[in-house]
Amino acid sequence: MSLGRRVRTKTDEEVEIIRLSSLLVGRTLAQVAARVKPGVTTLDLDAVAEEFIRDHGAEPGFKGYGGFPNSLCTSVNEAVVHGIPNDTPLQNGDIVSVDCGVLMNGFYGDSAYTFEVGEVAPEVRSLLDATKKCLDLAIEQAVVGKRIGDIGFACQQHAESLGYGVVRELVGHGLGRDLHEAPEVPNYGRRGNGPKLVDGMVLAIEPMINLGTREVGQAEDGWTIVTRDGAVSAHFEHDVVVRQGKADVLSSFKDIEEILKTK
Ligand code: MG
Ligand code: MG
Repeated sequence: MSLGRRVRTKTDEEVEIIRLSSLLVGRTLAQVAARVKPGVTTLDLDAVAEEFIRDHGAEPGFKGYGGFPNSLCTSVNEAVVHGIPNDTPLQNGDIVSVDCGVLMNGFYGDSAYTFEVGEVAPEVRSLLDATKKCLDLAIEQAVVGKRIGDIGFACQQHAESLGYGVVRELVGHGLGRDLHEAPEVPNYGRRGNGPKLVDGMVLAIEPMINLGTREVGQAEDGWTIVTRDGAVSAHFEHDVVVRQGKADVLSSFKDIEEILKTK
């Protein structure tokens, strides 16, 4: 993925437009959350998401992007990201990472959540909790004066302290009129390294954390990224704007987690 080098910081007006796109992604993922259960297929989830996005005046951001065929990336168990929805029913004990993008008013939103299907093993639940914590710790670093490496360091340090593998081949990114803009936002890094974070930078921060080693490869479909050791992988993603003192999180898991509480 080549993002170019120029970071396009956003005006306050542009940030509010991106916020609307990001929030629509969260609401779409809540529709998905309500339907994830054993027996449902990822193609079912994709259809629900596409209809919801279009009903709200937006375009699915991923459909056709680089030739991707669907509106959601659905990555089950050892699939890390970029899974293509299919007609295999989800099974009790699976996890499915659902990544969703929308394009509305000329700006993208991009957010992801990993769902449990029925009852998952305790070690899998712990991985999900830890990956979400990695995201929170990374977001804490997305403030004026820090650097990209501080974000990655925070994520990597937490994940590796628990013995998990941090995927390196795929990274977060800037976000705006393009789905992927500069800078790249790795989930690993060294403190004080990399591009400086400045006010108005919009970043998609998206830890991909493996229960086993960090090595990944590509499946035969040419899209799906899978763990080499076959262990499960989790993925959570928020869109944030870098501000003084505290990042402003543009996307939201609130609707998703309200649905999950009632299940
Ligand atoms: Mg995404
Ligand atoms: Mg992304």
